[in-house]
Amino acid sequence: MDRMNMDGTLQDFAQDRPELAYTDEVKAATDHLYAKVSHVVTPMEWPAKAPLIHAINQLKKEKNAVILAHNYMTADIFHCVGDLMGDSLALARMAAESEADIIVQAGVHFMAETAKVLAPNKKVLIPDTRAGCSLASSITGEDVRRIKAAYPGVPVVTYVNTSADVKAECDICCTSSNAVQVVESLGSDTVILLPDQYLAKNVAAQTDVTILTWAGSCEVHEQFTAQDIQDLRDAHPGVVIITHPESPLEVVQAADFAGSTAAMADWAKDSGAKKAVLLTECSMSDNVAADVPEVEFIRPCNLCPHMKRITLENIYDCLRLEQHEVTVPDAVIEGARASVQAMLDLPKPAKPASFDPTKPEKRVDLVVI
Ligand code: SF4
Repeated sequence: MDRMNMDGTLQDFAQDRPELAYTDEVKAATDHLYAKVSHVVTPMEWPAKAPLIHAINQLKKEKNAVILAHNYMTADIFHCVGDLMGDSLALARMAAESEADIIVQAGVHFMAETAKVLAPNKKVLIPDTRAGCSLASSITGEDVRRIKAAYPGVPVVTYVNTSADVKAECDICCTSSNAVQVVESLGSDTVILLPDQYLAKNVAAQTDVTILTWAGSCEVHEQFTAQDIQDLRDAHPGVVIITHPESPLEVVQAADFAGSTAAMADWAKDSGAKKAVLLTECSMSDNVAADVPEVEFIRPCNLCPHMKRITLENIYDCLRLEQHEVTVPDAVIEGARASVQAMLDLPKPAKPASFDPTKPEKRVDLVVI
């Protein structure tokens, strides 16, 4: 059963909105979408979801809008109303290239800001303004200014999971796909990599560059442990464990593969595994499972409470009322864009980098300001 909307809120939402009835027209227009989500949405739930899905898809056409659906969105959003799907940077780049006038970010606030930075002339909306991120909120632009004053001449790299203000203060951005490449491109024996301490430790294990970092973390990925992996292997002999480098180093070392969200999905598809675990946010397995039916996914996972603020109901209202516009000051757009562009100017790797789990731990200190 779908992990969200199990408490009748969808029915309550539709009660005062006669346009959200499950009519024959709605059924005919949405039946093909049900096949994509039938592994997580029961037939009893579908008549409540289908009218909203239909109405959102109609509104998109009327308003020339696109919905950017992050991999951690629930399957009904990801597969039934999402137009562009992927991780945060891929989404923002696709949005900038699209002809749409309106972008709805089905994801968290820093992602909407990144979309605005790369597509400043489009109207960017977020369905729930409270959709934040433990990692992005761990650091501010002012913190970065103080770090730069304390470490003059040391290049500062920021993970894309940060606010536009933080991006604007850094030299270059990175993703979990290219973090090692970005760090090594700077020609410095020491680099400050912000704000995820776990990504920093995982990158440090893969490079000879000395890494300094910040005490930020993703509240979803930091919870996994090496013991979780051992328990999964004991319970499911032969299972393949795929994890994200926002997890502690011991987790990456105990897994079979570690890489970015996109690399995890690709590896699950290409590995030939019969049984796999994506050690990440709950909806990611649900969404990948729809595309890789030949793999049985064991689904231990952690919900991201921020991602789960985005629902079909608030996407509908956001688009209908064109509410919750995300704005970024021009000067910040310019700085953040330069930081993203510096990363994009690096040669594109043939495929997203993975993290070699056999590499030993290296010392990583926190910056002192
Ligand atoms: S999964 Fe982690 S990094 Fe992503 S939005 Fe949630 S807290 Fe932030």
